[in-house]
Amino acid sequence: MSHKLQWIEEEIQGLKTAGLYNTIRTLSSPQGAWLRVDGKRVLNFCSNNYLGLANHPRVTAAAQEAIKTYGVGPGAVRTIAGTMELHLELEKRLAAFKGVESAITFQSGFTANLATLPALVGKEDVIFSDELNHASIIDSSRLSGARIVRYAHCDMADLERVIKENAGNYRRAVVVTDGVFSMDGDMAPLDKIYEITQAHDLILMVDDAHGEGVVGKGGRGIVDHFGLHGKVDVEVGTLSKAFGVVGGVVAGNPTIVEWLRLRGRPFLFSSAMTVPDVAACIASIDVLEESTELVDQLWDNADYFKSEMKTLGFDTGMSVTPITPIMLGEAPLAQQFSRELFQEGVFAMALGFPTVPRGKARIRVMISAAHTKGDLDEGLERFATVGRRLGIIR
Ligand SMILES: *Cc1c(COP(=O)(O)O)cnc(C)c1O
Repeated sequence: MSHKLQWIEEEIQGLKTAGLYNTIRTLSSPQGAWLRVDGKRVLNFCSNNYLGLANHPRVTAAAQEAIKTYGVGPGAVRTIAGTMELHLELEKRLAAFKGVESAITFQSGFTANLATLPALVGKEDVIFSDELNHASIIDSSRLSGARIVRYAHCDMADLERVIKENAGNYRRAVVVTDGVFSMDGDMAPLDKIYEITQAHDLILMVDDAHGEGVVGKGGRGIVDHFGLHGKVDVEVGTLSKAFGVVGGVVAGNPTIVEWLRLRGRPFLFSSAMTVPDVAACIASIDVLEESTELVDQLWDNADYFKSEMKTLGFDTGMSVTPITPIMLGEAPLAQQFSRELFQEGVFAMALGFPTVPRGKARIRVMISAAHTKGDLDEGLERFATVGRRLGIIR
């Protein structure tokens, strides 16, 4: 008998014992305010489908239409035979939507990040990175081979300090930050970060995955929110959250976009976005450009839910966006809260270490424009029931 994989069994058992083993739930319905999950109809407070576009009739129709003309698969990487006119159209539309000169798409937000930092910096360079940045930024930073210097979360004095202490020792430097932080729903002070990078002549990169379709005019993202058009060198984004489909994008400086077409490894060595995804993304942009209705609805819903949760006595942390953390403290309590909510017909995820710091476990509620006021009221009632039962509110 071989024992070479026994360590994996032991690791998994360890996770189970610590209450950190994640049993993945299965959906048998489309995305929306309500889902069928593991055979049960539940109110959805989990997904990143901020605007309800994942199953929007115009978006799904566009995907079906495109398949009739172009088929399904791209057949190749973008640089060989995988660039269809649809890809170029999407890139043009994304650049226009974001009010920047240029954009390039990737298979996901994750690969957009993986493409970018290794193309911009290497062993002689340094990356200044917010300590709460997304895993794909961390992996991309490691892959680049550059020295990684973390600064305290959204702390501009600390950013200044690490730049002064380190930048002079390296050839090039990038400052990279999430726009909206996914676990707390707070926002990077991008205007201040821009001033600092400008003063030191450093490259500025922001990951707007939770900002697109959410913040800025009509959901145009964090660069629009701060009025920094043309000033942020690299704006990474995802088409998998508010846009409701799947894919990634880098928008901004045309020289960098051109460089990524030549040196972005996921662009060069992994096949292009598929036809229905690209067509669906274009339709999502159509919907967003025609009206701010969905974005306005999202904010109305988020403001209502958050203020009612506070009135009930819950701690919603430092969120300024529709991401609503319900701070609970210890991980087993958050898990129990999530389990009891599910029994009550509400699907909301518990997050513990290492996704969030120890002792800061929480339920994270993701509000969507797809929720009706009735849905939110039902959710609030269930939260109140479970919250009282577990002694979190009175
Ligand atoms: C979700 C997320 C990503 C990854 O996007 P995908 O399109 O799902 O790969 C990257 N960065 C941040 C900040 C995210 O929240």
